[in-house]
Amino acid sequence: MWIKTLSCFFISPRSTLYRSVKTIAPRVRFAPSPTGYLHLGGLRTALYNYFYAKSRGGVFILRIEDTDQSRKVEGSVQGLVNDLEWAGIECKEGPGKGGLYGPYVQSERLNIYQEHIKKLLHNGSAYKCFCTERRLNILKRDAVRHQRIPKYDNKCRSLSREDVDAKMKSGTPYCIRFKLSSECMSFEDMIFGGIAYDVSMVEGDPVLMKSDGYPTYHFANVVDDHLMEISHVLRGVEWQISTTKHLLIYKAFGWTPPKFGHLPLIVNSDGTKLSKRQSDVKVEDYRNKGIFPLALVNYITLSGGGFDHVVGEGVRLKTMEELASEFQIRKISSHPSRLNPDLLEECNRLEIKRHLKDENLTKALITNVQNLVTQKYPKETLNISEEHVKSVLDWSTSRISRIDDLVSPKFAFLWILPSNKLEINRSLFEKLLNSLEDLEKFEQDTIKDNLRKFSDTNDVKFPVLMKMLRSALSGLNEGPSVAEMMQLLGKYQSLERIKAVIR
Ligand code: GLU
Repeated sequence: MWIKTLSCFFISPRSTLYRSVKTIAPRVRFAPSPTGYLHLGGLRTALYNYFYAKSRGGVFILRIEDTDQSRKVEGSVQGLVNDLEWAGIECKEGPGKGGLYGPYVQSERLNIYQEHIKKLLHNGSAYKCFCTERRLNILKRDAVRHQRIPKYDNKCRSLSREDVDAKMKSGTPYCIRFKLSSECMSFEDMIFGGIAYDVSMVEGDPVLMKSDGYPTYHFANVVDDHLMEISHVLRGVEWQISTTKHLLIYKAFGWTPPKFGHLPLIVNSDGTKLSKRQSDVKVEDYRNKGIFPLALVNYITLSGGGFDHVVGEGVRLKTMEELASEFQIRKISSHPSRLNPDLLEECNRLEIKRHLKDENLTKALITNVQNLVTQKYPKETLNISEEHVKSVLDWSTSRISRIDDLVSPKFAFLWILPSNKLEINRSLFEKLLNSLEDLEKFEQDTIKDNLRKFSDTNDVKFPVLMKMLRSALSGLNEGPSVAEMMQLLGKYQSLERIKAVIR
């Protein structure tokens, strides 16, 4: 809202010059805060960084930004690591991985920030601020009342050395603020093009070190990106507004900043903010609902550009290697990335098909189905032989998009006997049983021919016969064709089910 009101904020088209610049061995990082789960947006950021590093022989780093201890959620670091690994993202440096630039958790780097803040205090770019929470709240309320942008009035900037010494002596709590110069900083965003912005127009001097001795996100982020020799920062667009502030901090240190690229928002298919109501937002939810990692990765990368690929009927998913080699920052769209949930289902279907072409992956799928079936029908399970499960899987690829669908009520007939009580013409069914028993080739076509002949010679209307048979076989009123169902169940199972209704 306030961007529009600024005269010094502009975005110019992406420079063509940038496109021809070759980068060598980049060092990139994914820097989540451990405040809960990995969100789809976070996964996309991690993936794009990973692909960028992978395609250029660079290094992908995981850094945990836990400077806001009050928002820290127990167990979320492990959750993030698990989700990244599940998605196929391997980090070369990070917590638990080691690396020359560690520690990779910000709360373990407090001494580093303490040491660096001294440099800024020393060169006059930062100062101690003794304002109380109460005073800051009054300033805020005042600004709101007068319809001004709430910002710190930089009062402590002008404290004399004596004032500061006296306050320190008396043990008054303080934070350390950065002296924001009123300068229009600009940079070339790798995705959005030229960005220029004067932070001081909307913000008072920002806090770098809090009174509890912890750095703020902005300070720690800059110090770490510099010390970890990060060459490219690819992060969500919500951080774009902070980048010029970061550039001022780099300048105060006399450091060369990395290159920045901001990824557009991920939105629902109708352009609205991604919300739990319309789709899942946690990576974990997708995993728990039977989405395969490569399907989710292709889905996410398809929605925001950066690659050449198309997914559709008969098209396969891209591997992580292919995605990495195709990835180009200049191909990322700066428009919000719209998610299309149908595409996710299609991607997952393609992934099931891919698994069925690989012996080991097929074995794992079969075990997965066997487990699902035994969990769902602990007492009644009939046939979960490898052979049966495999033929069900082959048959199901155009019918399901998730493996769990196979234990939904409409496919219960594949595993258990229908529990319905049928009113049937017993002698007719006995005859039918005999004719099917004589059938040597128990395949869809031969079964169908046999049933047609049977209906003609026994003077029973074909649709009526099918309805009864379908019910006997599956307990359902609709579903795959009767002959198809019989082939799938096999001769033994089909005949057993017919026998069951005669008894
Ligand atoms: N810790 C920030 C986050 O949670 C990282 C922002 C950045 O990448 O600079 O998104």
